[in-house]
Amino acid sequence: MKKMLTAIWIIAVIVFFMDWGIVGLSLLNGNYEIQAGIYIGIVCWVIVIVGGPIYKLFDGRCPYCEKIRLQEGKYCPHCGKEIKK
Ligand SMILES: [Zn+2]
Repeated sequence: MKKMLTAIWIIAVIVFFMDWGIVGLSLLNGNYEIQAGIYIGIVCWVIVIVGGPIYKLFDGRCPYCEKIRLQEGKYCPHCGKEIKK
């Protein structure tokens, strides 16, 4: 699950830069029909921005009880086991 999220995030970053590159080139060439490119760029931008906290949420799961730990701590608030980093 974590690997998949990382892969999606990396793809979003690559598409984001490529897309804005294409949009930029289109503008330089006097082509202003770039709405689709802008939408793709915005979607990728949202994935890149939102992806960080979502990834952290998955990363913050307790390895023993699989519950999400919202606060950083040495011990899991659900099962009380020590979390080794
Ligand atoms: Zn736990």
